Amino acid sequence: MSDNNMQEVRNITKKSEDFSRWYVDVIKQAKLADYAPIRGCQVIMPYGFGIWEKLQSQLDERFKATNHVNAYFPIFVPESFLTREAEHVEGFAPEVAWVTQGGNDVLEERLALRPTSEAIIGEMYSKWIQTYRDLPVLINQWANVIRWEKVTRLFLRTTEFLWQEGHTCHRTYEEAQEETLKMLDVYREFAENVMAIPVIYGQKTDSEKFAGALATYGIEALAGDGKAIQAGTSHNLGQNFAKAFNIMFLDEDQQRKYVWQTSWGVSTRLIGGIIMVHGDDNGLILPPKLAPVQVVIVPITFGKNDSGEKLLAKAREITNELKKAGVSVQIDDRDEYRPGWKFNEWELKGVPLRIEFGPKDYDKQQVVCVRRLDREKSSIPISGIVDAIKAKLDEAQKALYDKALKYREEHTRITCDYEEFKKIIEEERGFIYAPWCGDSVCEAKIKDETKAITRVIPFNGIPVESNQNCIVCKNKAKHMPVFARSY
Ligand SMILES: [Zn+2]
Repeated sequence: MSDNNMQEVRNITKKSEDFSRWYVDVIKQAKLADYAPIRGCQVIMPYGFGIWEKLQSQLDERFKATNHVNAYFPIFVPESFLTREAEHVEGFAPEVAWVTQGGNDVLEERLALRPTSEAIIGEMYSKWIQTYRDLPVLINQWANVIRWEKVTRLFLRTTEFLWQEGHTCHRTYEEAQEETLKMLDVYREFAENVMAIPVIYGQKTDSEKFAGALATYGIEALAGDGKAIQAGTSHNLGQNFAKAFNIMFLDEDQQRKYVWQTSWGVSTRLIGGIIMVHGDDNGLILPPKLAPVQVVIVPITFGKNDSGEKLLAKAREITNELKKAGVSVQIDDRDEYRPGWKFNEWELKGVPLRIEFGPKDYDKQQVVCVRRLDREKSSIPISGIVDAIKAKLDEAQKALYDKALKYREEHTRITCDYEEFKKIIEEERGFIYAPWCGDSVCEAKIKDETKAITRVIPFNGIPVESNQNCIVCKNKAKHMPVFARSY
C-alpha cells in the first residue's frame, strides 16, 4: 500500500464547505460517472450503472404489476410531428438537437433526437387504436433522451440521459386521471421504500407543468444542501395530443371520440438524488435495496500463515453462504491494501454493511458488522449469520429513510410573511410552505426575487386557511404550495 492510494480515497471536499464540489468528488471517486468528451454528456461507469440496473429492475416490476408492458420507439422524431402540438413544441424547442444530414445527403425534413416521445408515440397510437376494445393502451419505454441543456450537472442534468416514459391511452378523463395519480403513487412508494427518500407529492402549478399537459404531478425530494430535486413526474395529457395526432376510437355508442392520455417518467437523475440526499463527508451512502454491493467482507489477516489461511477460508465460506441466500456480497481479500484503506474505500462507495473478520473473531466464531450510515458496530455469531445480516440490511434501509425524513422535517418551514420567506431562502433554504393566490404573476415575482420555485401543491401538505393571504399580493390565498430553490 502506498500513501498515494490513501490520498486518492480520502480526497473529498467537505459537504459543508462546498456542496457542489463534494457532489462531483463523490461521483468521480466512487467511480459512478465521468465527464464525456462531448458537451454536457456523461459516461455512466459500471458502479453507477449497477445502481441504475437495480433501480430499473425494481421500477419495471412495479410497472408490470400495474399491467404495463414495454415497447421501443425510434429516437428520431420528424419535425412536422414535434410541431403538431403547439404548447409542446414551444416548451421543448430551445432544447432540441436536430439531425439535418444523413450520410452525404441533406434531409428534406429535419429529425429531432427525442427530447421526449409523445409525438412519435402519438403518431403510432393513431394507427393502432380503432375502437374502445383497443383501450386502455398501457405502454412504457426504457430509452435515452436528448435535451440540449445550457447548464449541466452529472446525473441531475445531462445532454443525454436514460429514463423510462410511460404513455397510456384511455376511454375517459376519469380513467386517465386515475392512471396519472396511480403512477405518481408508484413513484412515491418507490422513492420511500426503495430509495429511502421521503418525498412531497402533489400537483404542479400551471407555469411548472409539462408542455402540452392538462395537469402535471410530481414527487419532490430535499437534497442535503436544502435544495429540491424533482424526482419524478406524471402528466394527465387530456386530449391535447389525441387532437394533434388524431388518436380516435369508435366508442360503444358508435361515436368517434378522442382518447384521453397520460405520460410519466423518471430518469438517471434519481441517482443524483440518492447521492445528494444520503451522502456524507466520507462519500456515498446507498440504500441496501439499490446497492450493487450490499455487504463487503474484509478479512483481517496478519501475513500469510496457517491461521491466516484458515481465517480466509472461513471468510470465503461466509461469503458463499450469504450469496446463496441472495445477498449481494463481495469479499475484499486483496493483499496489496491494508484493512484501514479498504474500510475507507468501501465507505466511499456507500456499501451499507461492512463485515470485519479478524483472528479474535475467528476464535470466537463471530464477525463484527459495521453499518455505513452511522458506523454502528455489532458482533454477529457465524451460526445464523444469514438471518442476522438480512435483518441488519432491513434496519439500515429503515434508518436511512428515518434520517432523511428527520433532515427534511428540520428543513421544512411555514411562513405567511414574504420578508421572512426571503430570509429563510437566503439563510437556510429547505422547503417552505407559503399561502399563494394562484396567480402566476405572484409566482414569477417570487422566482425572480428569491430563486424559489413552486415545487408542488402537496396532497400530503398543509391546508390553506380561509383567513390566509398570498404572501406577495395579499389577496385571498387559494393554495399552500411548497417553494424551494431547486436543481
Ligand atoms: Zn398573489
